[in-house]
Amino acid sequence: MKQISDVFSSTYQPISYEMFPPKGDLTLEQAREVVAGLAPCQPDFISVTYSAGGSGNSQATAQIAQMIQDEHGIPAVAHLTCINTTLHDIDGKIAEMRERGVRNVLALRGDRVPGAEATDFRYAKDLIPRLVDAGFCVGAAAYPEGHIECDDIRTSVEHLKEKQDAGASFFVTQLFFDNECFYRFRDLCDRAGITVPITCGIMPFMSKSQISRMVFMCGASLPSPVIKLLAKYEDSDEDLRRAGVEYACGQLVDLACHGAEGLHVYAMNKPEVARACTEAIRAELGTSMGR
Ligand code: FAD
Repeated sequence: MKQISDVFSSTYQPISYEMFPPKGDLTLEQAREVVAGLAPCQPDFISVTYSAGGSGNSQATAQIAQMIQDEHGIPAVAHLTCINTTLHDIDGKIAEMRERGVRNVLALRGDRVPGAEATDFRYAKDLIPRLVDAGFCVGAAAYPEGHIECDDIRTSVEHLKEKQDAGASFFVTQLFFDNECFYRFRDLCDRAGITVPITCGIMPFMSKSQISRMVFMCGASLPSPVIKLLAKYEDSDEDLRRAGVEYACGQLVDLACHGAEGLHVYAMNKPEVARACTEAIRAELGTSMGR
């Protein structure tokens, strides 16, 4: 199975999706359905989150990554967080991922849990070399508007460069709604000597509550066109969802036209969202779904 660094070097503007292990007791069958819905769009890779949002489903990440690869022949990226985790636990995860044939990992710190004890890893950059040494192709998270805990964007970019220096070979951005923020960020990265590909993470908004949760969690700014859409479709959930997907498609096409190195859709386990975004990009780039 391909490493993601090879995907970036062999594909112009790879299109990828993020999915999460469904919440609940057993997840694998539901996950299988989600993957089966995403696969016909022929993404260049699919990443699988790790216990994001406190769902407690971290066990399923490597399993779902394996399923994506083995059942659909699509490269998978397993997310892995290191906050509140010991070296011993991480070595256990490394062994499991190897056994399952996972070759690509997105190395993350994870969100702080108030009151939790410090452990063996402070930052994502501390996890990256361990994964690289274990033979994985390692990616990390990037923040076009700066990480929410970091006071200024330049420092955030310096921390990103440290992740590249530690061995990260690609970056996936946090969601953003204003492409201009990304273009400014990309210039800062160029100036800071960041040379690995940065793929743009775009999340179509689905509801007012979802968007406000995301904005408060990660500090992304809301440009006025988005605020206007939220106001315009306040009384119609369906119209708002349609507007959210259309807005995301517009962002993705604009990014494609501005030479983004990759386009990553936060598809929220909704294959129809992934399909709409992918069709919009490929229509713009003149390639078909069955490429
Ligand atoms: P780091 O890179 O370690 O940065 C954390 C903070 O420390 C930042 O403010 C940074 O500026 C600062 N920092 C870094 N290095 C230094 C230094 N040397 N000195 C001082 N400060 C420093 N969370 C999950 O729980 N599961 C997931 O699956 C998941 N997937 C994600 C995927 C993407 C693409 C993104 C963007 C985020 C994802 N997250 C996930 C959320 C992520 O865990 C949080 O954003 C977390 O708060 C930071 O993780 P990080 O890996 O970027 O941390």
